[in-house]
Amino acid sequence: MMRQYELVERVRKYNPNVDEDLLNRAYVYAMQAHGAQKRASGDPYFSHPLEVAAILTDLKLDDATIVAAVLHDTIEDTSTTREEIDRLFGPRIGKLVEGLTKIDKLDLVSKQARQGENFRKLLLAVAEDVRVLLVKLADRLHNMRTLHFVPMEKRARIAQETLDIYAPLAARIGMQKLREELEGLAFRHLSPEAYQTIETRLHELRAKNGRNIKRIEEELTHEFSARGIEAAVTGRQKTPYSVWRKMERKSISFEQLSDIFGFRIIVGEVEDCYRALGVAHTKWPSVPGRFKDYISTPKQNDYRSIHTTVVGPGHQRVELQIRTAQMHEIARFGIAAHALYKDATGQEGRDDLAKESRAYRWLQETLELLAHGDSPEEFLEHTRLELFQDQVFCFTPKGGLIALPRGATPIDFAYAVHTKLGNSAVGAKINGRVAPVLSQLQNGDEVEIVRADDHIPPAAWEAAVATGKARAAIRRATREAVRRQYAGLGRQIVERAFARANRAYADDKLKGVLPRLARHSVDDVLAAVGRGEIYSGDVVKAVYPDFSEERKAQQRLPEPGEPGWFDIKASSNLMFKVPGAEQGGAIPIRGLRGDVPVRFAEKGGAVPGDRIVGILTPGEGITIYPIQSPSLTNYDDQPDRWLDVRWDLDEESRELFPARVVATALNEPGTLGALATLIGETGANIDNIGFTAHSPDFREMTFDLEVADLKHLSDIIARLRAHPLVSKVERVVG
Ligand code: MN
Repeated sequence: MMRQYELVERVRKYNPNVDEDLLNRAYVYAMQAHGAQKRASGDPYFSHPLEVAAILTDLKLDDATIVAAVLHDTIEDTSTTREEIDRLFGPRIGKLVEGLTKIDKLDLVSKQARQGENFRKLLLAVAEDVRVLLVKLADRLHNMRTLHFVPMEKRARIAQETLDIYAPLAARIGMQKLREELEGLAFRHLSPEAYQTIETRLHELRAKNGRNIKRIEEELTHEFSARGIEAAVTGRQKTPYSVWRKMERKSISFEQLSDIFGFRIIVGEVEDCYRALGVAHTKWPSVPGRFKDYISTPKQNDYRSIHTTVVGPGHQRVELQIRTAQMHEIARFGIAAHALYKDATGQEGRDDLAKESRAYRWLQETLELLAHGDSPEEFLEHTRLELFQDQVFCFTPKGGLIALPRGATPIDFAYAVHTKLGNSAVGAKINGRVAPVLSQLQNGDEVEIVRADDHIPPAAWEAAVATGKARAAIRRATREAVRRQYAGLGRQIVERAFARANRAYADDKLKGVLPRLARHSVDDVLAAVGRGEIYSGDVVKAVYPDFSEERKAQQRLPEPGEPGWFDIKASSNLMFKVPGAEQGGAIPIRGLRGDVPVRFAEKGGAVPGDRIVGILTPGEGITIYPIQSPSLTNYDDQPDRWLDVRWDLDEESRELFPARVVATALNEPGTLGALATLIGETGANIDNIGFTAHSPDFREMTFDLEVADLKHLSDIIARLRAHPLVSKVERVVG
């Protein structure tokens, strides 16, 4: 196992200003935290974080990354907490270690290979600091190097995951060397026979052509220096995995593979690349279709090089990769190399890099940071992987990955899984805890939807969800439900009207007279009656033209004492408030400071349980609105007036809050009394009642209530809806 001073020495070799004390403290702390824990190999567990740190010293990374590597498994596998790391090593290192812990948790659900690309995005999104990814990749590399100690049945899964997720991730951030090693190790465990066969063949070729490689190297070097080009030429054999991939992809046999050998030509300047290419093409015939210029058109991961294949010495087809030393560093170490360049070469080469780097906006930005003289540490810290900032990635309880736009809620999640699930969603658990269905999801959240079969999504959700799919489905579901409700109500009204007229009712009879009512179906007629668009007496007349109704004068409200009048005051649970009476006491809302006057929006304000926002009106104070309030659109273009506020209620509080409910009910004597009683029984106050009669069959009543909270209000609305005389109940917000 690596000694304490050895670790410090490894870092000191490339960083003379190493924080020795910090490294030593991390070493001792992690050693004690892991204590007697053992690896599958039987080694002390602590040897693993040390090896991971050693891999990262090869990449010449900064102190914080090395320390994070030493500590990377402490939160996950020991009793260490984030707070403790913060206290001992500072919050920057605490954040790195916590990021690594988060990724470890995600590993549990990464079973589906087909979700590889999404998973990589998730990793990039979760690891806000690129150093987290670098440590994670080094961690995976060491685990792969020691995979043969792990029980057989676990190996395939880990190797497959490495091939599907971590190797492409390494490629994505440009770390070819790491990628090749990960692929090689994974291939060896997944297809041991194929690996063995190819490795044997490559070995034979190496033995046969070893001298050839040397000869070609020398010949190329000689040709270049004769033309005044300083070039380092190295020949190499393809890796077993890349040979295998090529054989798979092109369905060709080993014998048909032409370019098992490749030569790397490293030169000083960009123009030397093109001069070297000219020399190679003059000296040997080039193979058509194999020329690629990734210098003028870099790959997505910033890889730059010239590729060509020539028929070289001994009629051997060889691939040539021509690049500058700097391009080579980037090809091997990717993003880590950018950090090195500050130290290694000062200003050199960075300008054209910044100009040509087109793949990553963040890379460009961070390169600019570098150009302004920041330290490599800061460079890495600011290299946040903001590629997927517009998305959040969440999981189903079974580990399925659901990608959603930022701002999405559990309701969006439910609809993304299945429309049926969305339509029946009544609650949600996020990471095992009950959460509001309209809360914002975060990366990595596991979401479980609580469902109820006869549920109809509230129309107000339409405005609160983030995805078009959820919005359209909610609209459809509420429209359907409302139609069903109206048709059901219409049937009651029609049946009653026929009974009053002493005539028999049947759907078939109504079917015969549909043209007369200008409707297409019985349901249409019933729904129209339910909505008050067709008067029930007219339906009777359509079926029985001889029927003539003494139309009563429009019903008026009963006066006190008349039949139908319900004495509200007599009901013990009810209490009318005197309009304009003193509210008294402060409004219980957190997020507000000072003594600015606070009030609720008029005509239906917020009640505890609503998501709320405060709108500041200079000189007047703050008005609290429920988040679904239509009035808020007036302030859309004035974000500085929006205040983030929350309820701050005492459990014991018996305070009541104003809310407005509009109920449409059948125009029958006693309706008002019945509804008022029903409301009173829940313990709510009725502040005011207003009426509109919008058709002979219906009357609309506006109740200004005082309720304890959203649950109380929903309970009242549900009870009103369940009442046989009521056709529709809605909450109104100001
Ligand atoms: Mn580890």
